[in-house]
Amino acid sequence: MNVLGYRCSLCGAEYALDAVPYICPQHGEAGNLDIVLDYAAIGRLTSPAQIAASRDFSLWRYLPLLPVQDPGLAGTPLRNAGWTPLYRADRLAQDLKLKHVFLKDDGRNPTASFKDRASAVVVARAREIGAATVTTASSGNAAAALAGMAASAGLPTVIFVPHTAPQAKVTQLLMYGARVFLVQGTYDDAFDLTLEAAREFGWYCRNTGYNPFTREGKKTAAFEIAEQFTALGSAGLAGAAPKIWQVPDWVFVSVGDGNIISGIHKGFQDMLALGWIDRLPKLVGIQAEGSPAVHDAWASGGETIAPRPAETIADSISVGLPRDGVRAVRAARETGGGYLTVSDREILHSMRALARHGAVFAEPAAATAYAGLGRAACDGLLHPDDSVVVVITGNGLKDIKSAIQAAAEPAVPVEPSLAALRRALAGPPANP
Ligand SMILES: *Cc1c(COP(=O)(O)O)cnc(C)c1O
Ligand SMILES: [Zn+2]
Repeated sequence: MNVLGYRCSLCGAEYALDAVPYICPQHGEAGNLDIVLDYAAIGRLTSPAQIAASRDFSLWRYLPLLPVQDPGLAGTPLRNAGWTPLYRADRLAQDLKLKHVFLKDDGRNPTASFKDRASAVVVARAREIGAATVTTASSGNAAAALAGMAASAGLPTVIFVPHTAPQAKVTQLLMYGARVFLVQGTYDDAFDLTLEAAREFGWYCRNTGYNPFTREGKKTAAFEIAEQFTALGSAGLAGAAPKIWQVPDWVFVSVGDGNIISGIHKGFQDMLALGWIDRLPKLVGIQAEGSPAVHDAWASGGETIAPRPAETIADSISVGLPRDGVRAVRAARETGGGYLTVSDREILHSMRALARHGAVFAEPAAATAYAGLGRAACDGLLHPDDSVVVVITGNGLKDIKSAIQAAAEPAVPVEPSLAALRRALAGPPANP
């Protein structure tokens, strides 16, 4: 393992990997820990060209950059998390008057959300430290990912979700065999209860941001964006694999706790430190207007995260007190990106646009990133020649109730005869 230890994101104190379980002892929950890699050792071990030749089509192709050992479990869904497709979205680009729009479809993960990246790495860590039970708070996807990845390893899971979590997400948890508690409160209440329960019962806690391994799993999306963006750009050119990777000008990502955007930031920082890329893309975080805590901290110019109300159709990013907010603010600030908020109406509209013109069915929180791109393009924040990757963080089947709302028009009932079909076809198009 090419890891030097942890560094507190507030005070910079460093700790050995096995000296501290989750957070900086001096800073409590605000002191999220970054994992410090040994870049010199990684640079000697591997290179973009070597990775590009790997036959491991999962996030584990980047194992030398991860803070865990090879978890074994070959052939399981855990070993197949990541390496989701990067699509060219030319029709969407046309809609936005841009030329180079790409969708990174993380709904294609084993449990259908981006969270598999974090959970795969956390379960690998849990096995290394001999954890008997793993637990997490979640608005739904992190829990499904943990339960699914743990099922690959035969590890019991205890899950705390708000009682308002969409039915499909709760059902997914039950199917994977998790012990599920519906907390009579918000996601933030579930988060705090999970910390207490983990302490009390000795469970290994995956809570987003709080567990430093979540960000390390999520950073693999940045590696894939660089590797796949480079491959798309050089498609048709026969020749040696490039020595360094290209990056898009912009990456748009939806933000709740802020762990995905800070993970993606960390991934690009790792590659820059290794000399594998020559610049950072501008990272833009999108929040729902009804849950704007990270946006508001960024807009204030500081990095103090104050709790805000959390009320949006995009349940996966409905977070009152973001747990990785400080680094999420830095991800935008240190890359020259920014934050935007969008309304629930724009989110529903984006779900339709993504499906119809991008052929990707996204859940509300995932479509939020695209809604943000729509807003940014409209406001002239981007040059038409700029390249943009929008991270689609979860599949639309996760929340059918919202999809029904987004589709707007119901399907048309028809008698099983051609005559009836003709009459129906002559009617107004049901779903223009
Ligand atoms: C968790 C999640 C997000 C936001 O990730 P954070 O790390 O909480 O900012 C966005 N979209 C989906 C679908 C998610 O499940
Ligand atoms: Zn500290």
